[in-house]
Amino acid sequence: MTHPWKSTDEKRTIVFSYSPGNNIIQYLTDMRNLINRAIINAYAMAKSNNNELPSPIVLRRSLKNYYDNNIIYAKHHINPACRNAIAILRSYKKNNNGELRVIKAERLAMRIDSELIKIENNKLRITIKPHEYEYIGIVDKNKKFSEYSKYKLSEVLLTDSKVCITFRTGTLNKPVMDDNIIGFDLNFKSVDYTIIKNNEIVKVDSVDTSDIAKTQRDYARKRTKIQKHIKNPAKRDRKLMEAGHRQKNTVMDKLQKLTTEIVNDNSDKTFVFEDLTDIKKKGKKNNNKKYKNNKDSKAINEKSNKNKNHKNKRFRTDINRWPYRLFQKLIDYKSKNRTLYVNPEGTSSECPVCGGKLRHPIWKESKCINCGVTFNRDRLSSLSISVRGLYLCGTPFTVSGSSSWDSMKNNYLYHPDHVVIENSSDCKKYLHSNA
Ligand SMILES: [Zn+2]
Repeated sequence: MTHPWKSTDEKRTIVFSYSPGNNIIQYLTDMRNLINRAIINAYAMAKSNNNELPSPIVLRRSLKNYYDNNIIYAKHHINPACRNAIAILRSYKKNNNGELRVIKAERLAMRIDSELIKIENNKLRITIKPHEYEYIGIVDKNKKFSEYSKYKLSEVLLTDSKVCITFRTGTLNKPVMDDNIIGFDLNFKSVDYTIIKNNEIVKVDSVDTSDIAKTQRDYARKRTKIQKHIKNPAKRDRKLMEAGHRQKNTVMDKLQKLTTEIVNDNSDKTFVFEDLTDIKKKGKKNNNKKYKNNKDSKAINEKSNKNKNHKNKRFRTDINRWPYRLFQKLIDYKSKNRTLYVNPEGTSSECPVCGGKLRHPIWKESKCINCGVTFNRDRLSSLSISVRGLYLCGTPFTVSGSSSWDSMKNNYLYHPDHVVIENSSDCKKYLHSNA
């Protein structure tokens, strides 16, 4: 593993309302026009290149002449305008099966890069034109402001009513507990973890999260019903959206409680997760395919549950998936120690005890020919993740060389009591293999 430190969530944002002056309104209006011009350029470039959108940098080249000759604002503003235009088109393309069209940006909203912003005496200073500044008083009733403002400014999002200031907080300031690690394997109905403290495996356990899985499933069912029975498209869309919001809130609520509890119970540890950011990108294609073939979201959900491939279940990016990334983010945010993200490749195909290849005769089993035993797949993964976390810390841990392995081994062996049966087909498999 040549994996560097991973820290993905290093930004914090504060938001407050304000009343913009004429200069800012004018600036936002001009920038909206620029974004719309950029959208037209980007669209034309995509049309002559197989529907592939240009990068913001390539787009900027096409606009630079126009900008230099017609725009009075500081040169830097062209960058976020181009990024914004590409982002708008990209999200349209994504939501419309790869189709593109010229979209008109309506909202007055502009991102401003860190080069053009500064905080002075509780005021946000924005360089609109070269050597010409606009000041916005910061409403610091946001109690996080004093905490975040110690960090470097990342960017500002300015609309005609709100200011969002983002700081690059980093996580370097959080300590790593390299002698007390808790590695998590996230699954649909459980999260499984292994704690390694002072070079000993001290605990392995599974937390039942079927409650969250059930919520996702229930709402998927609800949405299917709405889709089937409400004929009026406007009303159907509204109902679907309402159900989506309620689902999000309910799941968020449960996740908040769960992660607070977990962090409180393990406040002295460093959390280790699989880095899922790349997997998600790879998984998107996979997932879209499923979507096209099958419009029934519930069916997608159940279909994915039956999926034998351990990794594939992470590929689900639709609304019914267990929100793995959100779970990680909340823990990362709440933990006072630094969270580590390890390379997920092979965590379920490589035996953490002997390095041998694992086979999976059924969904929840990991069989190592070398060790000659069948492990509980999810628990063994959590051991792999903890071991990788320690490797990242520069304090490698050998499972078989640790005296704790002998006493803890039983907890990693496959045992039906430890397994949360995912669905009836797993049940059948299980019965079959024990018949
Ligand atoms: Zn082994």
